[in-house]
Amino acid sequence: MAVEILHSTCPHDCPSTCLLEVEKISDTEIGRIHGAKDNDYTAGVVCAKVARYAERIHHSDRLTTPLRRIGEKGKGIEAFEEITWDEALDEITAKFEEVKAKFGGEAIWPYHFAGTMGWVMRDGLDRFRHTYGTSRQHSTICTTLPDSGWNAGHGIKHGNDPREIAESDLIVVWGGNPVSTQVNVMTHISKAKKDRGAKLVVIDVYETPTVKAADHSYLIRPGTDGALATALMHIMFRDGYADREYMSEFADAPEELEAHVRNKSPQWAAQITGLSVEEIEELGSLYGKVDCAFIRIGYGFARSRNGAVNMHAVTCLPVITGKWLHKGGGCLYGNAGMYPLDWGLVMGLDARDKSIRELDMCRLGPILLGNKGDLKGGPPVKAMLIQNTNPAVVCPDQNSVHAGFRRDDLFLVVHEQFMTETAEFADIVLPATMFLEHDDMYTGGGHVYFSVTKQIIDAPGQCRSNHELMCALAERLGLDHPGFKLTAWEIIEETCRISGLPDAETLWQNHWHDCSLGEDEMHFRNGFGHADKKFRFKPNWAEIGPDFEGMPSLPGYYTNIDLANDKHPFRMVAAPARNYLNSSFTETPTSKKREGRPTIKIHPDDLVALGAKGGDVVQVGNELGEIQVHAVAFEGLQRGVCVVESIWPNKAHIGKQGVNVLISAEQGQPKGGGVFHDTAVWVRAT
Ligand code: SF4
Repeated sequence: MAVEILHSTCPHDCPSTCLLEVEKISDTEIGRIHGAKDNDYTAGVVCAKVARYAERIHHSDRLTTPLRRIGEKGKGIEAFEEITWDEALDEITAKFEEVKAKFGGEAIWPYHFAGTMGWVMRDGLDRFRHTYGTSRQHSTICTTLPDSGWNAGHGIKHGNDPREIAESDLIVVWGGNPVSTQVNVMTHISKAKKDRGAKLVVIDVYETPTVKAADHSYLIRPGTDGALATALMHIMFRDGYADREYMSEFADAPEELEAHVRNKSPQWAAQITGLSVEEIEELGSLYGKVDCAFIRIGYGFARSRNGAVNMHAVTCLPVITGKWLHKGGGCLYGNAGMYPLDWGLVMGLDARDKSIRELDMCRLGPILLGNKGDLKGGPPVKAMLIQNTNPAVVCPDQNSVHAGFRRDDLFLVVHEQFMTETAEFADIVLPATMFLEHDDMYTGGGHVYFSVTKQIIDAPGQCRSNHELMCALAERLGLDHPGFKLTAWEIIEETCRISGLPDAETLWQNHWHDCSLGEDEMHFRNGFGHADKKFRFKPNWAEIGPDFEGMPSLPGYYTNIDLANDKHPFRMVAAPARNYLNSSFTETPTSKKREGRPTIKIHPDDLVALGAKGGDVVQVGNELGEIQVHAVAFEGLQRGVCVVESIWPNKAHIGKQGVNVLISAEQGQPKGGGVFHDTAVWVRAT
């Protein structure tokens, strides 16, 4: 069979949502994956880990049959025996019904996240929750904190069309590392540099590959972005870069903000951020002088207890300076709110009962250990069905998560592609398809396209898609919802129809569909998303979430973070490793080889002070636990800051404990959210 090139979309948890060209070698085999050359966002580029996807999809460790655990929890595949799908489904159905009869539907918690970003395969679990009356999920692990900060100001989640980066004269990447985690952003930055002589500015807490590519970089202390942004506001007002006419039309309280930032000088911010006054002045001047300045905002700096405040502060800058008026000016964090899609059928929203409790996914450990506040007065969680995530590795407070999964009275079903550490705790493990083995549809948080994809190759063994599992369980449990009677493709067709889009077949043939709202709307030239159409310098945090007590009414440095202290002198950031994507790709040989081993980056002077050197094993800990990793002497961060790139499996560590052992499950304000980069730790030589 000649190699065919077929279109698809990357399903992984990454804002690029790359449009793909897949080499189909046979009905069961793919070759290389390339970025779609004629898509003007992907522009022929994908990351290396997806380019070599054949390594993952044809991996010999793929799960291909249903399994029942007959040995110890957490042991590995040797603790399981093969069973048939019918046996597995019968057992799950019987156990779920038993739990529901004894403890109520809320004692069952279907749990998922973004292992696939395809709407049918990711969000069908919601339909199952709503129709079966189980506990619902507050999905806090990724975007809750940055969403809270963005929406507080804008009132709607979208920003510029990212293709405009190529028409900018200054691109500021704030708290993101697109070279490693969203490679397409760099394509458009390179174009702006080449065509217009644009400059790249990067603000981060350590020297990432993106920092290395920058013309100007500023390495600050973790959690101090709000202070830096506020000092920049001070410079904008002080040095005549503020656009008062724009603000009077498009913002709520410009005079109050100006008075508020009058004493938030570069000297003030230098003490907090660790930058010099000269660096802050330089950054202010770079940003203030250029009309077409585009801030590409990453998720990283918002994953802190003060993350919503920091995000809001950064987003005030283009409003103060009126940069939204200019093509190539403004900012972008995510575009999820601009898509005109109706997800009612996919998610079974007609069956949703909002009186049923919503459990916070980041609080999985305390929930499984019976914390009454987290259980909201309802029953303990007695049964779970997990799809698209690996909480035994990715969730905060790992020791609590593992203790919870070890409970003898918890019935755990995991639908997975590999025997993950979560699957090792399961009673039943079911083999799942990968994205080229089923139909789905995608929106792109970092661009403006919607795409519809069809299965390209057959799945190995007895793998079934998430949707097929939902339908099979629904049939056995007698759940009556049209979504369980349709194939994945039929759900796509119907969703396109009710959303007023072209028909699914046409969308598939066209490969992608541009959903941009147009330049004026994307630039908020007709106003922002609040009822009064004004951007809010003074956010109403109470509107965003219930935990707003103490949050500042105007931008600044909010110190509700895990500040360093005598006992925990280091501020640790758990950043993403370039060759992994959360815990995906930790199974592929090339990714593992490129990452080497789990490490911690520490300033060489700090290592000397600790009596250690690069290459030594150090212990890192706090009240939640301890881990052991190899130290790397790293000059590209401030003293007192350390960085662990991950997410390595816990088992890859010397003591079998990974970085999320140290991450708190505390909720960021005002609506919750994982605080992965907000951790004070001690570090000791061993
Ligand atoms: S950059 Fe992101 S969206 Fe693109 S191929 Fe890689 S993981 Fe997928």
